[in-house]
Amino acid sequence: MSELLDIEISKRSLGEMAPRFKLLSTLMPGYVAELESWQGKAREFADRVIRPKALEIDARCHDDPTYFDWDLVKASTPYGFLSMMVPKPLGGGGQLATATGIVLEEMCAACAGIANIFGANGLGVSGVLLGFDLYHYERTLTDLVRGDRNGEPVIFAAAVTEPLAGSDVEDREYMEKAKLVMEARPVPGGYLLNGRKVFISNGSVARWNTVMAPLDRKKPVETLCGFMVRQGTPGFSIGRVEKKMGQKACPAAELVFEDCFVPKRNLVGHEGEGMRFTELVLGASRGPVGAIATGIARGAFERIFDYARRKKVGGRRLIDRQWVQIRLADMARRIHLARQSYLDATMAFDFTGMPKLMKTLPARFALELLPSFVRGSELYHRLMGSKMGHQLVQGMFDRNLEESDLRHIQQYSSMAKVTGSDIAVEVAYEALQIAGLESSLARLELEKLYRDAKLTQIYEGTNQLNRHNIFTNAFPNEYADGCR
Ligand SMILES: Cc1cc2nc3c(=O)[nH]c(=O)nc-3n(C[C@H](O)[C@H](O)[C@H](O)COP(=O)(O)OP(=O)(O)OC[C@H]3O[C@@H](n4cnc5c(N)ncnc54)[C@H](O)[C@@H]3O)c2cc1C
Repeated sequence: MSELLDIEISKRSLGEMAPRFKLLSTLMPGYVAELESWQGKAREFADRVIRPKALEIDARCHDDPTYFDWDLVKASTPYGFLSMMVPKPLGGGGQLATATGIVLEEMCAACAGIANIFGANGLGVSGVLLGFDLYHYERTLTDLVRGDRNGEPVIFAAAVTEPLAGSDVEDREYMEKAKLVMEARPVPGGYLLNGRKVFISNGSVARWNTVMAPLDRKKPVETLCGFMVRQGTPGFSIGRVEKKMGQKACPAAELVFEDCFVPKRNLVGHEGEGMRFTELVLGASRGPVGAIATGIARGAFERIFDYARRKKVGGRRLIDRQWVQIRLADMARRIHLARQSYLDATMAFDFTGMPKLMKTLPARFALELLPSFVRGSELYHRLMGSKMGHQLVQGMFDRNLEESDLRHIQQYSSMAKVTGSDIAVEVAYEALQIAGLESSLARLELEKLYRDAKLTQIYEGTNQLNRHNIFTNAFPNEYADGCR
């Protein structure tokens, strides 16, 4: 496979792929050098580990959706992809949305199913990071760092979707009418979780699931909470693992909660902060979903470019025909658009979102100066869980995350998700069309890329709902909701 893809385009530098990095490298050389380094690591991992196994794992997971290739994930540990978002003072890579996007694009050009193991892990990690609960940084995120260091990977997942509520639970407006089945009932010392989550990527293999559940299903917006649920907790089990059309290497599982007791310390942040986390997480993660889609489109482009160089029709190579050149040029143009769109979204997040909070004095003090045993102690948890702790964190959010910044982040992240995923489907479709009969052959990987591409239009809110999200954030409070 690597021989098939021995083309110059898959080796372009960051500056060649997106000219903004040439300018940025003069203004912020350290920032760009770090991104380049992550791109190099992802490229090496994709060539060395992902490409040789992609087709085999896809076929295996088709026969048995519960199959999970732990060896492959173990091979990722020296690179630190699973812990790349964990803050540096905790031993992680300290990266945010842009580096995550760049890594995912590289991996997805090789295989989006395998890449999504890392993408879904990032989604779970974001739930903790954006909860800004340093007790959980210490207690759960450091598991990822140890896992990468010891070669015994630890995986996270985010459980938001419910059997009767997918898009609804991702949007404050729709949430009010969502048909939820999950509920967290306060009991002495903690909460009892009951209900089900569905289609949770990595859910069946994750050590930690970030689970969203309301205290009162009739008031979901006001009472939604995020809970860390560890694999093996009594009352928590894995239901069906879905047989899905694409991205098969990453299992999508049903999570079942039956009187599952979680102690109070497993609550992320405070009661009722869940909707804000969900919105922040989606603002952070839809940009990287655009990157996943860009990678799939690039994968299809690289394969069809290579095919067109090799395939002769009527004595001439396909690539020497003008109609093919025009189609390839148009694919390259669209991939460029998708990439710009996700970079705008991820940079909007990295420069105006959560990182602003991380740079505040109290956050730097807690992250950089407090010893880890203090951050991870019950006393610290109780202090931060108190009214005063709540006011401190709430005040930091209010002072540093302006409404207009949040709207920008939401708008650009939905734009990146819609633009990228639509382009991924179009480019994969074009590639299939150019290859004609041979496009259906599994070994060309084009049919797999098309299957993988389609899912990006659905997850993290359907593209329809994301379009509406663009509208409401770009033109707040001006128009009635014509969606319902
Ligand atoms: C491969 C894969 C992996 C996934 N991984 C995860 C994961 O890790 N964690 C997780 O929590 N979830 C995950 N999901 C779930 C995913 O986020 C949801 O599928 C997605 O949000 C869409 O929800 P839904 O499928 O329930 O569609 P629905 O919300 O039921 O939508 C169905 C249709 O109705 C439309 N619609 C919905 N609401 C409205 C409205 N108010 N007005 C007008 N039209 C509307 C939609 O646009 C769509 O056309 C995954 C899904 C897939 C396919």
